[in-house]
Amino acid sequence: MVWFCLILAALMVFITVLVMRTTAFKPEAEEPVASEPEVFDGDKAVRDLQQLIRCKTVSYRDKSLENDAEFAKLEALLPAMFPHVHQVCEFIKPGPRSLLFHWKGKSAEAPGVLMAHYDVVPVNEELWDKPAFEGIIENNVLWGRGTLDTKGTFVGVLEAADNLIAQGFVPENDLYLAFAGDEEISGEGAPTIVRWFNEHGVKPAFVLDEGGAVVEKVFPGVKQPCALIGIGEKGPMDVKLTLDTNGGHASTPPPHTPVGLLAKAVTNIEKHPFPFTLTPPAEQMFDILGRRSTFLYRMIFANLWCFKPVLNLFCRLSGGELNALVRTTVAFTQMQGSAASNVLPPHAWVGANLRLISGETVEGARKRLQKLCGSKKIKVDVVMGMNPSPISRTDDEPYQRLSKAIRATWTDAVVSPYLMLACSDSRHYGPISDHVYRFSAMALSKEERGMIHGNNERIPLETIKKTVAFYQRIIKSC
Ligand SMILES: [Zn+2]
Repeated sequence: MVWFCLILAALMVFITVLVMRTTAFKPEAEEPVASEPEVFDGDKAVRDLQQLIRCKTVSYRDKSLENDAEFAKLEALLPAMFPHVHQVCEFIKPGPRSLLFHWKGKSAEAPGVLMAHYDVVPVNEELWDKPAFEGIIENNVLWGRGTLDTKGTFVGVLEAADNLIAQGFVPENDLYLAFAGDEEISGEGAPTIVRWFNEHGVKPAFVLDEGGAVVEKVFPGVKQPCALIGIGEKGPMDVKLTLDTNGGHASTPPPHTPVGLLAKAVTNIEKHPFPFTLTPPAEQMFDILGRRSTFLYRMIFANLWCFKPVLNLFCRLSGGELNALVRTTVAFTQMQGSAASNVLPPHAWVGANLRLISGETVEGARKRLQKLCGSKKIKVDVVMGMNPSPISRTDDEPYQRLSKAIRATWTDAVVSPYLMLACSDSRHYGPISDHVYRFSAMALSKEERGMIHGNNERIPLETIKKTVAFYQRIIKSC
């Protein structure tokens, strides 16, 4: 009986602590941000984007498929489209697929970099409802490959700079407008620009590239739109698990075939996911957005000290974005055995794509996979790999500045850091800046996010105009 009472008392204390912590887990009061209207010609921005869509700047890993004339066509449009930028900014072309504009500010001390890419991924024209490269406008929506990824922000940056220059504005600090024409194939455009910065001793105090956006219904229990700023990104890695044998006739197989052994390794790797890792971006996101969630989720996020195992299990079982946010992921994507059905493969392999979470390394991940293969005969080789990006700061001025410009533009949005799960060109800036932020300056619905790299990519005209307003605000505070 005494024991029962003690257990009951302990349980009561436990529940009281959980509830008290949950009740106290409320959003912190934020200072309101003034939202001064921005002056610009929104219809011009629409017409300009329409023209840029008509340039088929599709990048391919196989260079013979690329049409250089289309890239040249886009570049040739820029001087007439953005005359003030061309008059005032120094135009530098560090490489064949890089465009860099240097806009001198009052000081060169703390330069800022605004990035975008002007290449696009190929289209499956037959699956589109309208042509992908004609810039058709219907019902106040502009259709075309690149409208969202990322000719929309490309035009936003240039339009904002051109307007402000015309209005006689001079930025506090030097600004670099940095554009790559081969982001979609992880090309040399952005690295070439970073090398140019290195050679010229430019250390950016603020870098802004594509990344999170203003989105809804992405965080459990939060109804408000969330503006997600990527403050780090995962590292991409490809591996190959290879098994070489003597081959042989399929009529007299050994107890375990090469394919069977590889399949066992794959199953074992999937059964043992990488450990649950709460990185600073995820931690901050859970803190900021968790406070705005419903009671049940608030209870979980306010009490991660005891609910971590539950969250881990939930993430493991659900997979997808939430799981990718808290661990290194492994996706098996390729496999090859024998060329004939009656021959044991002398050389069999499976391929996987990994995304490394902060704190993990290419070599560490390879070693873990090798161990999980359970056989020394299977060799794990790294085909390509890049360590995760450093995590950018959120406790000082550049982040606050970005947050303010976002809140002035999307007034009902909650700004939160997050970890970017895909790759962006900004990963090349890690070595030269502690303030690299990934935010695609647009409010995107789930449907619109699905159009990126998909079919029927299109943008509401209002979205284009808001993007320009955002860039004017951020440029004014740089
Ligand atoms: Zn893309």
